[in-house]
Amino acid sequence: MPVDERLRQQLAAWLEFYRELGIEDFYRRPPGVGEVRQPAPSNPREARLQKEEPARHTEVAAAPAITKPKPEETAQSVPPAQATPAIIGGLHARSLNLFEAPPSPARGKPESLEEIRADLGDCQRCRLAAGRKMIVFGQGNPHAELVFVGEGPGADEDEQGLPFVGRAGQLLNRLIQFIGMKREDVYIGNVVKCRPPGNRTPERDEIETCSPFLFRQIEAIRPRLVCCLGAPAVHTLLGLKEGITKIRGQFFDYGSAKALATFHPAYILRNPREEKILREDFEKIRKFLAARP
Ligand code: SF4
Repeated sequence: MPVDERLRQQLAAWLEFYRELGIEDFYRRPPGVGEVRQPAPSNPREARLQKEEPARHTEVAAAPAITKPKPEETAQSVPPAQATPAIIGGLHARSLNLFEAPPSPARGKPESLEEIRADLGDCQRCRLAAGRKMIVFGQGNPHAELVFVGEGPGADEDEQGLPFVGRAGQLLNRLIQFIGMKREDVYIGNVVKCRPPGNRTPERDEIETCSPFLFRQIEAIRPRLVCCLGAPAVHTLLGLKEGITKIRGQFFDYGSAKALATFHPAYILRNPREEKILREDFEKIRKFLAARP
């Protein structure tokens, strides 16, 4: 059947876009069929990948679409949310599919954090497993209105299996108190759950493999606001390429919630003069949460 030239060009552009993101596996759900059945793996390696790497096959949780906010949705005391570029970049786009949204456990009945943790198991899905002591899944109120997302565990977090427990965590605790909340009120996670060697920035394939679990956690919690702490969180959750300095303090739509970009507390420890700016951003968080829809 001849393919419409415009459609062919659109498909080619999409495929190129996904290839640049490192995504080369596509599937098509036939109309009217509820579930995609993966073909039986033809060799043991493929069977292992399907078992171990759900993110590359069927379990990519759909990160909420970033949409331009409706004016009436934005509280008056809160700066208007920014619309992201027309083309969604970064890992956020992983959840898109050329034909339909990918199947996700969260699309049926809502998942609980316990179910997601059980699914993660003794995860060996990426190379970070080799150097970790403990998986840092996330911690906090499973019904939190406010979720913080950082980059990845450091040495203290790796030891204790808890997020933000080192010096950066102490600063985060103070900032949480500054906005009149307690640490137990919020939920805290990271884009990767195992410590990168030498505290390096997580690499793209590591984030691609791990972040679907974070998306599922956020979907399970259903917060009103997701605070992205630092560039990796902003890039992963919002798909934005802009530097954190440029977009910090701005609100974005994150599905039916909002997201705020700001500095990672560890950056402030190295640049204490910037703490004032971080406090300004936390003041925006306080106002946002105080303004009932
Ligand atoms: S970083 Fe995430 S995907 Fe990689 S091994 Fe740890 S839990 Fe698994």
